[in-house]
This record gives sequence, C-alpha cells and structure tokens, in this order.
Amino acid sequence: MSSWYCPCCVPFDFDPVDVPISAGYTRPRKPRKLFPGACASSPVVEDGEKEIQPPPLPKGQRNVIAVGLQRFAEGTLQPQPDWEQLTDRVVCVLAQNPGSFTLNGTNCYLVGTGRKRLLIDTGEQHFGADAFMNILSSCMEELGVEGLDGIVITHMHHDHYGNVGRLQDKYGPVPVYSRELSHRTSPLLSELRRRGQIQHFLTLDGKPLYNPKVDGKPPKLPEDVDISWAHDRVKHFHGKNTEEKLHWIFFMTWHHQDLIDRLRNCEYPWTAVDSGDTISTEGATLTAMHMPGHSDDHMTFLLEEEHSLFSGDHVLGWGTTFIMEMKDYMDSLRKMLHMHPVSLFPGHGHFIEDGVDILQRYISHRQMREQQTWEALVKRKEPVRIDVIVHELYPNTVPERLWMARSNVEVLLRKFVAEGAASVFVPSWDGRLRRMRKLPTGYDVRHLPDGYLWAARRTVPTPNL
Ligand SMILES: [Zn+2]
Repeated sequence: MSSWYCPCCVPFDFDPVDVPISAGYTRPRKPRKLFPGACASSPVVEDGEKEIQPPPLPKGQRNVIAVGLQRFAEGTLQPQPDWEQLTDRVVCVLAQNPGSFTLNGTNCYLVGTGRKRLLIDTGEQHFGADAFMNILSSCMEELGVEGLDGIVITHMHHDHYGNVGRLQDKYGPVPVYSRELSHRTSPLLSELRRRGQIQHFLTLDGKPLYNPKVDGKPPKLPEDVDISWAHDRVKHFHGKNTEEKLHWIFFMTWHHQDLIDRLRNCEYPWTAVDSGDTISTEGATLTAMHMPGHSDDHMTFLLEEEHSLFSGDHVLGWGTTFIMEMKDYMDSLRKMLHMHPVSLFPGHGHFIEDGVDILQRYISHRQMREQQTWEALVKRKEPVRIDVIVHELYPNTVPERLWMARSNVEVLLRKFVAEGAASVFVPSWDGRLRRMRKLPTGYDVRHLPDGYLWAARRTVPTPNL
C-alpha cells in the first residue's frame, strides 16, 4: 500500500494506550483481538489463539517504538467503514489516506442535524482525495444533506486541511474556521529564496516541479547547486538523499503555503477562531478550545449538545500521538480532562466512548514515560548526550527507528528544561560547557543538535558557566 506521511505531524510511537471500540461498528476485515491493556509492545492474536506474553524488559526499558507501524502493515488494526453515524449529530467520514502514520485514514466529521452541516477536517489533498470526495458526497446524499455550513480545521497539518480547495469548488463558498494562521512564510521556502535556489524546484508557472503523486523520481538538480545546508533540516524526512527529501518537503510545504495564502487573501472565506468562540449549525454548537502540544495551532471543539469533544490529533482512537511540545501537551490533556467530556471524536482511529477514561490513561501513561526518562537523567553525575539515554531506554529498537525514540526522549528533556528541572549545555571549542539560557520551542526547531548535553539540576553542579 502506498503510504503518505510527514513525520512533522503524524503519530508514530503508538505507546500503550488501548481504547474501546465503538458499539455497532461493522468490520469488513476479519477482526483481531488486542489483549486487555493492549499496548504496542504486546502481541496481537487472532480470535481463539492462545495469548503469548512477550519476555519482560528490565524495569524502565521500552521496546515499543513503531511496533504499531508493523501492526498496521500486518492488518491488525481494526478497520473503519467509509462512513458511519456515531451519534445523533455526528457522522464520521473516513478520508481515504490510510497509512502506518494516519492509521485507517483521517477522520472527518459531518456535524449537525439539518440540510447543511459543518465538516470538521478534510483529509489529504494528494492521497485518496477523489475517493474521499465521492464518499462524502454519497454519504451526504443518503442523509439528505445538501451542503456545508462551514469547514472547521483542527490544525494545519496536511492530512487535515488537504481538501479545503476541492470542497470550495464543489460546495463553496463555504466559511473556513481555524486558529489564527502563522504570519511567517515557511522557513524552508524563505531559505531557498534567500539562496536563489527556489527556481530549481518550480515550473515556469510557479508550481512545484516534482509531484510525488505522479512523478516516480524527483528531477536531478544542476551539479553546481549546493544543498548541503539543508542536510540537517531534512534528515528525518522521506527520501533516499538530501536532494530527494528536499523535493518532497518542498512539494508539501509549497501546497501548505498556497492554502494559507488563499485563506489570507480571502479567496476562501476564512475566520480565525480562538478559545471560547462558537460555531453553530442546525442541531449543533461547537465551542473552540486551543490545545497546543501536537502542534502550536491545535484546536479542539466541544459539541455542546452532547458534551463530547473533537480531539483532533491530540488524543487518538488507537495508540498515542506525536508531540512537539510536551509541556503544552500535558497542560492541554489536563484541560481536556477538566472538561469531563462524555466521548471523544479523534482525528485518527476509532470513536472513544469514554472520554474521561482515555484522558486519564493518556495522562498516566505520559507520566510513566516521563518518570522513566527523569530517572535515566537524574542518576547521572555528569551531563549526558541524548543518545546515551535513548539507547538505555530503547535497547531493542532497530537503528532505522532510533530517530523516533530520540524524538520521544527529546520532548521530555525539553520539558524538564522548560520547568527548570534540567539544564542543557553546548560544548564549546575549548572543551568548556556553556549553558543554554533558553531553548527554541519544539514548534520552531524540531531536532536539537546531537552534541547538546543534558543534566538534571538537582544532581549536577552547574559546570563551567
Ligand atoms: Zn493527523
């Protein structure tokens, strides 16, 4: 199966959080059963098979990175129907972009009871878009829905905003609601422009030269174009080498910027929403709540009539999500729990019937992970490189997935620094360590340099300041 993903915004670690499957759900594939308390490190068995327990790892060690990815590939994730009525006011329409990172695809929700409804999230522009538009249209027809009252975007990641343009063409003009859009042009596009290299990525009419949807391989850049500056920026992305990765990211980034420009220029009717704002349609009122952590612009929406929450990618119906800023993420989880939502409608995975239960489990799961990382840091007398902790906590992770483990550990180390519990040091040319006063946020810089050294403040006297 072809798989579209972007590690900037998709779940990947699938740490152990099991969730209930919605009642009345039909399964086109043979169902498999997860163990009670199933987690990404637990085996999955066919109905009737004997459960085989994995050998226990030493306390504090983990071996769960991306095991969930294999589960998807093996077909052990329970599928979802193309569309299903979840409650009186909510229908889930599945975007046809399945993948090991998007699970069965992005959940898009038709909300309301009238002839026009709200649509929350829109799926992927370059993968499965035709099929999604057809399914949405037949779903609307069957339900007697004639149009859209609004398009609500939980966050500006490509698997959520992808079909805004097509929806405008078909049903528009439709008001679009999202959090305030960043004023910054993409740093990658700015840098290519600054270096005078952007023309090598564009056609004469200003569109990306490489389209991974139709082109097998990206075109070769001229030999005298030096892109070594991009190596570190793109190293965790898709592609064989820096050139391929750059073409691929350019394609995604260009389309992202294109949509933002269209919204800003009022080509599509766009309204910025913030916490407390409400969006209404017949039979449904959504109250917006800013919940950063997965991304800085992430909004969740409370369906007032049912007191249930559209959780976007903050809480998923299977496994755990990708986190850019752990401190924000935990604060958001607690805010969500404080609301006591009856159910959650996640951005990926199955409907979560018990909202409070899943939130409590997400929080305690994260606290356990945090504790393990803290113990690995605090027991050391000297500042330590992140790789040392990653290898200690993820001893059995295959090398090609270690970057994921590293990313998990890095967001926790950043959180310790943000809370004043840890320090981070940069070795200088004379061998001395210089303490960083402030780190850029995970939203601005995804991967800090490997050479940084980390120390718990309570154990290590601040060295060489
Ligand atoms: Zn997503």
